[in-house]
Amino acid sequence: MAQDNSRIPYRHPQPKESPPELVIPSAIPTDERVWVPQGENVWFRPLCLCASRGYWMNLLRVRKSGVLSRHRHPQPVHGYVIKGRWRYLEHDWTAEEGGYVYEAPGETHTLVVDEGVEEMITLFQVNGVMIYVDPDGGVLGYEDVFTKINLCRAHYEKVGLGADYVDQFIR
Ligand code: FE
Repeated sequence: MAQDNSRIPYRHPQPKESPPELVIPSAIPTDERVWVPQGENVWFRPLCLCASRGYWMNLLRVRKSGVLSRHRHPQPVHGYVIKGRWRYLEHDWTAEEGGYVYEAPGETHTLVVDEGVEEMITLFQVNGVMIYVDPDGGVLGYEDVFTKINLCRAHYEKVGLGADYVDQFIR
């Protein structure tokens, strides 16, 4: 009878081009300084800043009726609501705690957290770029994985974690 090998680990090296894995014990950080401010009542917490493929994974935190400025996504976004709830001014549904949201390429929207929600936290995977726009789609600015990295560097330097604190999240 063939020997059961189901518990034998893979016994060859990983591909040499494969980057190191990334394991973050407290995705929701215990150290408040890890949250990077990005607007009034809005913060993000980097998890994976994938510079080599141009996307990022982060937690978005909004407190007390905050707004994430109107923006367009040329590429898809995936979200999982960990805490609280939020909605888009452009849609009639609400993203609730425990829910999953897919944002389609080409979509422009404005994320709001209404009064009565003390705090919302959502995991977002954002591909490529977020283009900030006026109500008619006129371009006001953008964010990509590189501007996110720069925001982290500046913030972590300022709060005493050191600019290179962000390096652990970059792949
Ligand atoms: Fe969005």
